[in-house]
Amino acid sequence: ATASTARHVSILGATGSVGRQTIDLIARDPERYPVEALTANGNIDQLAEDAIRLRARFAVTADPARYLELKQRLSGTGIAVGAGPDALIEAAERPAGWVMAAIVGSAGLAPTLAAVRRGALVALANKECLVCAGDLFTAEVQRHGARLLPADSEHNAIAQILEPDRIDAVERVVLTASGGPFRSMPLDEMRRVTPEQAVAHPNWSMGAKISVDSATMMNKGLELIEAHHLFPVGIDRLDILVHPQSIVHGLVYYADGSVLAHLGAPDMRTPIAWTLAWPDRRHAPSDRLDLARIGTLSFEAPDDRRFPCLALARDALKCGDGAATILNAANEVAVAAFLSRRIGFLDIAGIVADTLDGEARRAPTSIDEVIALDQAARRRATDLVAAR
Ligand code: NAD
Ligand code: MG
Repeated sequence: ATASTARHVSILGATGSVGRQTIDLIARDPERYPVEALTANGNIDQLAEDAIRLRARFAVTADPARYLELKQRLSGTGIAVGAGPDALIEAAERPAGWVMAAIVGSAGLAPTLAAVRRGALVALANKECLVCAGDLFTAEVQRHGARLLPADSEHNAIAQILEPDRIDAVERVVLTASGGPFRSMPLDEMRRVTPEQAVAHPNWSMGAKISVDSATMMNKGLELIEAHHLFPVGIDRLDILVHPQSIVHGLVYYADGSVLAHLGAPDMRTPIAWTLAWPDRRHAPSDRLDLARIGTLSFEAPDDRRFPCLALARDALKCGDGAATILNAANEVAVAAFLSRRIGFLDIAGIVADTLDGEARRAPTSIDEVIALDQAARRRATDLVAAR
């Protein structure tokens, strides 16, 4: 790559599952993708090693208590070091044309918005920040001429097959769901599942939080809300289809009966590579799809009774009055409580439902109000966890 074709990149959440896979791609072509900033929370060794290897200009830990450790690991390298919330925002403000938003949870909202507000191309994996801030987030994208490139595999699929000039002819947009590790487990067995069982996803290797979300299917609920904000087709035209093999990632039904589907091996490097090369396509070292070997693709309707998080998310989307912000915050608290064995698996949906019931609702009218609502819902969910 020459200087003119190079794309400067920053990665928020560089040490996570998506962050590492992004690094895997850019490290294969360092001339094309000079690295501006890398951020992480706790994994200082990994962050320092990648910052050095990729010649990043700025490395940030979200945890102020780890500042000195990171500073020491990078001393003599010329790489600037930062720590804490303001440094995360500074990392996103650095002049990289392309930013991977791969922090987990609404903790990613402020830094992702900082990248949006300087008009960057934002590869969005961090679905919670869009679920949490919704229309206010997409309004910022519009206002600042930024562009969201969906990195979540289903939304990436839809972005590739939705014909932007034919929106009126779209009858349905369908997100597929693997169904997670408990797809066919009876409800009373789910009561006893452990964090270890919940994070063992059959098709994808992902961070702990999204793995639990896949097991409760809240992940698909969050993705439904995410799709609503990314694609202008209306709530009633958004559907979920369970597809255990995770080969078909999304489908668009058109008025003439045509159905376009997007297929690919379950390998996040493919959607990430699409965002990285956009609007071009470039080679990615992902697994190639061998349909003859796979043989059979199967599909089934989702079961709202065993996976109540699906209905909770759909209802939150329909209410629109800050309910998605509350749903997301309560879910983050409940998943953390489940992972640390303070509540059972089925309590996750219970905590989310009770938080939604108890929280006074008023649609937030600014990002500050979103953050206040997110914090209030976290406090209420935390109280509900303690009361179980
Ligand atoms: P992960 O837990 O593996 O990584 C999260 C990253 O965020 C790490 O770098 C971590 O250090 C950082 N981080 C954690 N808490 C933070 C905080 N409070 N402040 C700042 N940084 C923090 O998660 P992941 O699986 O890579 O997922 C990241 C995001 O991408 C999530 O929103 C997830 O839903 C989404 N996503 C992931 C996948 C996947 O295959 N893993 C697929 C689609 C979407
Ligand atoms: Mg997904």
